[in-house]
Amino acid sequence: MTAVPTDDTIRRLPKVLLHDHLDGGLRPATLLALAAERGAAALPADDPDRLQDWFAAPAASPEDHLRRFAPVLDLLQDAPALTRAAAECAEDLAHDGVVYAEVKIAPEQHTRGGLTRAQVVDAVLEGLRVGAARARLFGRSVDVRLLLTALRQAADSLEIADLAVRYRHRGVAGFDIAGPEAGYPPTRHIAACEYIKRANFHLTLHAGEGFGLSSIWEAIQWCGADRLGQGVRITDDIAVAEEYPGAGGGAPVRTAKLGELAAYVRDKRVPLELCPSANVNTGVVPSLAEHPIDLLRRLRFRVTVNTDNRLLNRTSMTREFAGLCAAFGYGLDTLSWFTVNAMKSAFIGHDERLALIERVIKPGYAAVRADHAGAAFFRREDDW
Ligand SMILES: [Zn+2]
Repeated sequence: MTAVPTDDTIRRLPKVLLHDHLDGGLRPATLLALAAERGAAALPADDPDRLQDWFAAPAASPEDHLRRFAPVLDLLQDAPALTRAAAECAEDLAHDGVVYAEVKIAPEQHTRGGLTRAQVVDAVLEGLRVGAARARLFGRSVDVRLLLTALRQAADSLEIADLAVRYRHRGVAGFDIAGPEAGYPPTRHIAACEYIKRANFHLTLHAGEGFGLSSIWEAIQWCGADRLGQGVRITDDIAVAEEYPGAGGGAPVRTAKLGELAAYVRDKRVPLELCPSANVNTGVVPSLAEHPIDLLRRLRFRVTVNTDNRLLNRTSMTREFAGLCAAFGYGLDTLSWFTVNAMKSAFIGHDERLALIERVIKPGYAAVRADHAGAAFFRREDDW
């Protein structure tokens, strides 16, 4: 009897995604088509499989990883390309069983062809609507909202924050800051973050992937982030010790001591937008089996699982969950816990979140359980 859920079972489960970049998730075939239509410079490979391999090759650092976006951004400089990318994003997520997603885009990276930032947002929102409508035709329902990202290395985060607030009732769910952590602390963007807070809007900051605790501390305590984009390095503030029993044997007893910042993040239920495959791909963590997500789960942090960049990490929500099930023996209880954590942490209204949990997520899990009654993967995992 199978010990972990199969990919097909996981694909059926309703899933929630809070951290996914539109420009990091294009289909390789679409990139080739966009390049051909636009007479653009050759891509690093000329067939979809080899192009996928090029994007997903292991990166030397998060910064090296970021440079892979250049050929994608070159092709996303007009409204039809942005609309197509967004429509396919929504479709692909729906096919993967994602029922709610927040997708990120940095408007300023798509204006080289003459689009204004507002036109960039309009084109992407149109695509998300088209993709969700197509998904309904094949019986899938997905609600995809947009997060507008400002770049750490740029100086105009306040304008992006203002744009996000202006689109809050048209599909934009919040504001984000991304880009290289080293040398660009989030405190450079306090004005934008304060603007978001004063507008009673939502804020997530990339922090704690390439850089450690100071980045997380600034994101939360100076910038007021509602969620941490990545945040995996919070483990730098957790000391784990193993005490081995005497000659009588038995399993080692593990203890964990949280520093003040880690305790704050856990006590305040600050959601961690963990991206396990991305962390392995960028070399932040050596392998999935060594990823601290299991430690953070056992310590009951508000852990969520995310794809970050589906093309660059050769991943999907199903693949992320399947990888974690294989690495840690997770069953449906843990996948459900990650999913409800993510839904609780979404930047939509409390009533909308509850409706998705009660009317979509719980019934979706119940249907899968009913079809697999008695399977080993229903066991409840132990917590610390
Ligand atoms: Zn990211």
